Amino acid sequence: MKITDVEAIYLRADHVREQCDSGQDALVVRVSTDAGITGIGEVDSNPFAAKGAIEGPFSHTVASGLKELILGEDPFETAKIWNKMYTGNIYGGRRGVGFHAISGIDMALWDIKGKALGLPVWKLLGGGFHESLRCYASSLWGPTPADTHDLARRYVDRGFGAVKFGWDPMGRDEATDIALVREARAGLGKDAELLVDAGLAWDAKTAIRRARSFEEYRIFWLEEPLIPDDYEGYRRLSEAVDTRIAAGEEESSRASFLDLMDRGKIDVVQIDLTRAGGFTEALKIASLAQDRGLSVANHGFTTYINVAAALHFLNSIPNTLIVEFVAEEQTTLRDFVTMQRVEARDGQLPVPQEPGLGVDLNEEALERFAVR
Ligand SMILES: [Mg+2]
Repeated sequence: MKITDVEAIYLRADHVREQCDSGQDALVVRVSTDAGITGIGEVDSNPFAAKGAIEGPFSHTVASGLKELILGEDPFETAKIWNKMYTGNIYGGRRGVGFHAISGIDMALWDIKGKALGLPVWKLLGGGFHESLRCYASSLWGPTPADTHDLARRYVDRGFGAVKFGWDPMGRDEATDIALVREARAGLGKDAELLVDAGLAWDAKTAIRRARSFEEYRIFWLEEPLIPDDYEGYRRLSEAVDTRIAAGEEESSRASFLDLMDRGKIDVVQIDLTRAGGFTEALKIASLAQDRGLSVANHGFTTYINVAAALHFLNSIPNTLIVEFVAEEQTTLRDFVTMQRVEARDGQLPVPQEPGLGVDLNEEALERFAVR
């Protein structure tokens, strides 16, 4: 089998609001083969920059568009192709956008392999640890603490046993930060897990102070309290408090995850398959985490392509902690991109059993939302 085409398709909702919500647009990667099998993947990044990294021309031997590098390759040779993409664009692709672009292609190649063999991706990865995985409903905070209380209540009523709130208005001031967590806990009741995503809000000393203030509300983890390059701050925070510290969604290669683990001393390694090099690299990162006694969760706030990929991945490693699942009530682009929707039941997500990723592109969504 040979790769015949690689497309980076940018989809954008009719109305994009100014908020921290990467479900309002999507960059979908589609890889075609001479066997008639196509695979899909996703890149959650700066979309047009990633599209350029994929579809752009050959410039020279260490600065090439990824498509040019892999046309004609056998999609089964994922490790070889991954290395070819990494070294063939090493000027632009060791970290960040160029690396994110690799991720979407790698995901699509595993989808092709699964479809060709009639097996779900997790089976190709040697997985099979779970039949379903515990998930948390992932949400932005309500505009006020009182709104967050109501939101929390509704997630529990929908059957979720764990809920995460994140980003603005956390970080405005101490009283608001504490009120948000207090009201989230009150809305959830005593049994559900509460996860807090601070959204890069503080410096290390403030984060230590907040983590201590949140202790009485029994939070499951504190996510991304600091800017990602503040490894020293992460270390000071992790060593000062008992609360689990989670981070990783801003990282791309395993080299940057190593910094977060070994210098930052975080507890939970959050891997976004659309940024961290796809399945091929994510398995290595999970293995490095396991060597350090750390648990792994996915990160994903985009479409069901990423959700499905996360389920295959987290079913293939022994150190999975929990699955992030975007469960917001407002309908966004997410609900149109794929033919299938992944649905949580009683706080659990079933592991996909269909060949490949198990989700297909909705051609009508391409017609309606594609920006060319
Ligand atoms: Mg986050």
